[in-house]
Amino acid sequence: MVVASAGPGGELPVRELAPGVYAVVGDTGRGVEGRPNAGFVVTAEGVVVIDALASPRQGEQLLATIRGITDQPVKWLVLTHHHPDHHFGAVVLRKAGARVSAHPDRRVLAAEGGEDALIADWVRVVGLDAMRGFEFANVPDRPVTTADTLRLGGRTIVITHPGAGHSAGDLLVWLPKERVLFAGDVLVEDGVTMVVDGSSGDLLRVLDEVDSLHAAVVVPGHGVIPPRPGDLVRRTRDYVGGLQAEMRSAVEKAVPMRRALAVLPPADSTRPVSLNSRRRRNAARVYVEEERKYMGLDEP
Ligand SMILES: [Zn+2]
Repeated sequence: MVVASAGPGGELPVRELAPGVYAVVGDTGRGVEGRPNAGFVVTAEGVVVIDALASPRQGEQLLATIRGITDQPVKWLVLTHHHPDHHFGAVVLRKAGARVSAHPDRRVLAAEGGEDALIADWVRVVGLDAMRGFEFANVPDRPVTTADTLRLGGRTIVITHPGAGHSAGDLLVWLPKERVLFAGDVLVEDGVTMVVDGSSGDLLRVLDEVDSLHAAVVVPGHGVIPPRPGDLVRRTRDYVGGLQAEMRSAVEKAVPMRRALAVLPPADSTRPVSLNSRRRRNAARVYVEEERKYMGLDEP
């Protein structure tokens, strides 16, 4: 069931995945450029929110969406990772009383120029109005580096760091009883998960872990919730494995990176995470990974 969007308080569309377990459905058909998916779990002792969306305004909409369904206090915010589109709304949930569960490693390439540059870049994406009231709120109160179990109001939520597939601070959020997995950007609707902040080898291992859960429902970081989770996992694995094989072959034949990438369409200069940009940036990253493996710099 998808509840109609744009309620009177700015509520976002939600889908109940299991009793009391909701996906806040983001944009579809826009790859990873649209509003991400988020989620929340209603318990008898409060609400656990998964991801905070891309701006304080989206955080307000998320909170209004939760308020449209329950009066329970928001107790926890779990962040699947530290990309701005998944946590720049966190300040709103923090101010509403949530404590933050996240991986302590918040490093992302986009922040290499410093926090001010990251914010300025992000204002260009979501607009200044949407960023009003922004503060960083992604430092974990409860850091998760391996695994953690949140128990609240009779619910069990297992949070694990499966490796640095999409980013250094990736977490999977798993409800074992309901068999619902919030995967973050380890999975995205078109199967082209970015690995520039993580690694393709780790991503393949993370996908194995996702498979081993046999989830009934998997919520990807962006886009449509797949009717058969295994299909999206397979598609992602085929893409990443295929890219590794192509780049490995190029490295073995001493084809320079520029020529190895020439078969791909050019990146979109103003859209760093468009499909073409993702494919090209991933290819460059995986070429370097394969080169390092070839030279014996990394373990195979
Ligand atoms: Zn991401």
